[in-house]
Amino acid sequence: MGRLFIESISSTMVYKCKCCRVDLTSSGQIIDKNFQSKSGKAYLFNKVVNITLGSCEDRSFVTGLHTVSDIHCSSCHQLLGWKYVKAYADSQKFKEGKYILEKARLLKDGW
Ligand SMILES: [Zn+2]
Repeated sequence: MGRLFIESISSTMVYKCKCCRVDLTSSGQIIDKNFQSKSGKAYLFNKVVNITLGSCEDRSFVTGLHTVSDIHCSSCHQLLGWKYVKAYADSQKFKEGKYILEKARLLKDGW
């Protein structure tokens, strides 16, 4: 049995999982706040911790075809968003390796 390792973020403005309040990322990691997901607003982040990745699949967005992987909280397993694994259009390459977290599933702490 492996013990769950939770990484904590040393920032004053942290985004946490809304269900279990584990640290996910901080305000300094935000790249773009103008993303849209099925549940509403979503943010693009540079780095996110305490997550598990689902299997890769091709998904079509307004901005074209991308290979993405769903992101789940490593502690409570709720779906948080997705990670861009590969972008097919050159203009979207900046998203590769970046994370989308849905605003509705996040909790702001220390703001
Ligand atoms: Zn959680």
